[in-house]
Formats: sequence, structure tokens, C-alpha cells
Amino acid sequence: MEPKVLIMGPPGAGKGTQSTRIAEEYGLEHITTGDALRSNKEMDISHLDAEYDTPGEFMDAGDLVPDAVVDAIVAEALDSAGGFVLDGYPRNPDQAEALDGMTDLDVVLALNVSRAELIDRLTGRRVDPETGENYHVEFDVPDDDAVRERLVQREDDTREAVENRLDVFEAETEPAIQQYHDHEGYVEIDGEQSPDAVWSDIDAAIRGKVEGS
Ligand code: ADP
Ligand code: ADP
Repeated sequence: MEPKVLIMGPPGAGKGTQSTRIAEEYGLEHITTGDALRSNKEMDISHLDAEYDTPGEFMDAGDLVPDAVVDAIVAEALDSAGGFVLDGYPRNPDQAEALDGMTDLDVVLALNVSRAELIDRLTGRRVDPETGENYHVEFDVPDDDAVRERLVQREDDTREAVENRLDVFEAETEPAIQQYHDHEGYVEIDGEQSPDAVWSDIDAAIRGKVEGS
């Protein structure tokens, strides 16, 4: 069986790092709203009459892109997916409700990391523009010199946008995570360990849920 996995947690918790690995090891589709939105930063969403007219302006400020835009991205991606790992959605209670109408999840992973560690991770995060892979100036430096030299920083990984994203997480996403506490697939993971230790807990949690079902 190909599991349907949701990974949640604050910005910088390691969702991207771990879900890439989950997708590879379990042969699942990796559905990530952050990457989908970054490829559509300039999309005209003026018809929504929201604060800004493009997704990119919300993202650079560290604010959430309107639900209508992300709900549609996820609905379309789930439509064509068998097993998947979903990363970056839902980010508020309304999105959680929308997701509930789209699919039944087997595993819900909640990654926990302290705010101080998140700030260090996000301000040090660098991205390979060619592969989209995430690295870190201190914790995860690429071995290949060519990769190291082409790394860039995301526009929303500046200190100011990071603080705002963490506030948005506490106000909007934490209540959405609470809604999954009673889900039978819910597992909390200590995200403050090394990437390999986090992976090993995640792998055991997925196996436990899938074999136990
Ligand atoms: P992070 O790595 O900080 O968790 P993502 O790459 O998942 O960030 O998302 C980057 C930005 O894209 C968010 O700050 C937000 O502006 C936008 N975004 C991503 N997913 C969603 C979503 N589900 N709802 C609204 N906005 C989203
Ligand atoms: P998210 O998708 O939740 O925002 P990422 O996977 O992009 O998080 O990780 C944020 C940053 O922290 C990246 O620079 C990544 O290399 C680094 N990172 C991820 N997991 C760990 C970990 N367990 N320990 C230290 N740094 C990590």
C-alpha cells in the first residue's frame, strides 16, 4: 500500500528535508505548496481582491497566500496522486477542513522544534537553484564546490520575514495542527535531533501506522 502522509510543523522544522527523503524511500509523490507557489510567484490573483495581487508579494512578506489559491493547487495535485507526502499544507483551520474533503490521510507527522533553533535554521538556509534542494551554511554544507558556489538565500529567509512567519505559524497553523491530535495516524516527532535521527523516527512512525492499520 502507498501511504498518504501529511507532514506538519513550523517553518524550518525540516519538513522539506524529511519529505524529500520520505518520497524517495517510499516511492511517493512529494506535494509541496511552497515550491508550487514559488513557481507561480507572479500569477495574477487580483480577482480575489486580497491585500496583494500576486502570490510572491504575500510570500516575501512571510504572510499566507489566500486559501482559494492553495486549495486549488492541492486539490489538483491530489487528484493525480496515489500515495503522497504533503508538505506545507494545511496552514490554517480552514485549509485543514478543505483537505478533509479531498482525501483520507494514513499518517500525520508533527515535527516539533523550538523557536530559537528555527531562527538559526531559516536564516542559515540556502537553496540550490538548479535542484531546489535545501542546505544550511553550518548544518548541511554541500560536498560539491560547484553546488556550494551557486547556493542562494530565499527572499523570505531574512530575519524580519522569518519572525513574521513564525508568528503566523503560532497564530494560524498551530490551531490547524491541534485539529489532528485525535487523528489515528497522528505522531509527534522530535525535530530537534540530527536529520538522520529525525528520519529514523519518521520511518518507524510511518511503518508503525501502515503495518498497524
Ligand atoms: P517554510 O519552508 O517556511 O515552511 P514554504 O516553502 O512551505 O515555507 O512556504 C513559503 C511561503 O509560501 C509561506 O510563507 C507562504 O507565504 C506560502 N505558502 C506555502 N504554503 C502555503 C499554504 N498552505 N497556505 C498559504 N500560504 C502558503
Ligand atoms: P521546512 O521545509 O520545514 O521549512 P527545511 O527542510 O527547509 O524546513 O529545513 C530548514 C533548514 O534547516 C535547512 O537549511 C535545512 O538544511 C536545515 N535542517 C533541516 N533539518 C535539520 C536538522 N535536523 N538539524 C539541523 N538543521 C536542519
